Amino acid sequence: MALYGCLEAGGTKFVVGLVTDAGEIVASVRIPTTLPDETLGAAIDWLQAAAGDHGPLSALGIATFGPAGIDRARRDWGFITSTPKPGWRQTDMAGPLGQAFGLPVGFDTDVNGAALAESRWGAGRGERMLAYLTLGTGIGGGIVVDGHSLHGRTHSEMGHIAVRRDSADGGFAGICPFHGDCLEGLASGPAIMARWGRALSDLPSDHPGHGIIAGYVAQLCIALEAMVSPDRIIIGGGVAQTPGLLDRVRQRADIRSAGYFPGFDAARIVAPGLGSHSGLLGALALAQDALAP
Ligand code: ZN
Repeated sequence: MALYGCLEAGGTKFVVGLVTDAGEIVASVRIPTTLPDETLGAAIDWLQAAAGDHGPLSALGIATFGPAGIDRARRDWGFITSTPKPGWRQTDMAGPLGQAFGLPVGFDTDVNGAALAESRWGAGRGERMLAYLTLGTGIGGGIVVDGHSLHGRTHSEMGHIAVRRDSADGGFAGICPFHGDCLEGLASGPAIMARWGRALSDLPSDHPGHGIIAGYVAQLCIALEAMVSPDRIIIGGGVAQTPGLLDRVRQRADIRSAGYFPGFDAARIVAPGLGSHSGLLGALALAQDALAP
């Protein structure tokens, strides 16, 4: 069975794994994200040792934090580009890995990777078009059409759409350093913390914050419906695990759709199917596509 070297590259840790074609995680390790040479070097060392133990790799996949260069025609393909994370600006991720193993490397954002994995093995299986959203430290989203991530000049940044302010949510400026009260500025984990001093899941169930946050996320769902009409919208990430949040998002999306969109059904807004494995499995999907695009 083919083995793939998979990297889920996050801002605080890398999860590196050896994964089979079928998505079985043979071995994995967590490596703290310190500086590029150190962290990438440790990932390469671990993968080389793991391949020695379990057998040769067929390809590599990197699902990374961003912003990232994902256009193969550009010189910054495979790079983390304009990140504010100290030391990581303009870091070549795919190059050193490909060179160390002499193998094809798949590279995309963690969100696009997770979207691809959900479409292949998770809650979007069998659907022609899906949108995958993650609500956590940031808000991001990816769209998969016919088994491929939708790429424009770069990856989508749908967490930064403007949303209409909830009238019960006045007085909070929002925390996005670029836009203030964009969706991420109002509804990400840090925005919730800045406003109410607790995570959404720690607020009492009758706290108005639940409805406010659900309303903002529902606005993105309806924007997606208006723009691309996905077959399914999958919502993952830490904030999305708040009990009752998905139901509230569905209710508000249903109200906001106002019966206008043909065939729109809020029941198509669902939880992910892959849970905490979506990062490594995203990297697996990217590795497989690097081998057979
Ligand atoms: Zn923003």
